[in-house]
Amino acid sequence: MDLLKPFRYRPSCSAVHCDQPAVYKLAAAWSGGSSRELKNYGLTCLVHRDSELAAARRRHDCLRLSDDETVGPVEVYVLRSGCRDTELMPYAGPDGGGFSP
Ligand SMILES: [Zn+2]
Repeated sequence: MDLLKPFRYRPSCSAVHCDQPAVYKLAAAWSGGSSRELKNYGLTCLVHRDSELAAARRRHDCLRLSDDETVGPVEVYVLRSGCRDTELMPYAGPDGGGFSP
């Protein structure tokens, strides 16, 4: 009887062979017509943040957009459970200066 087990969403890192809990979400701000959302490029733990970000940016570079779509660069967002995409805050990095490729 575990029907009453509390629901806890605990996403894990997207990197191959990694089962660490995800700490960051990689996403790019996308807008098309009147809708805006984050285009998801995966989740990552602390260790794989930089390598997954680089991989996500490579995938992002190959993206084809139609005329009414715009998309920003892939950024790192701090993952918070129970938080909608639109409420996530970009991660500024330890020095507050963000990431460079
Ligand atoms: Zn990982």
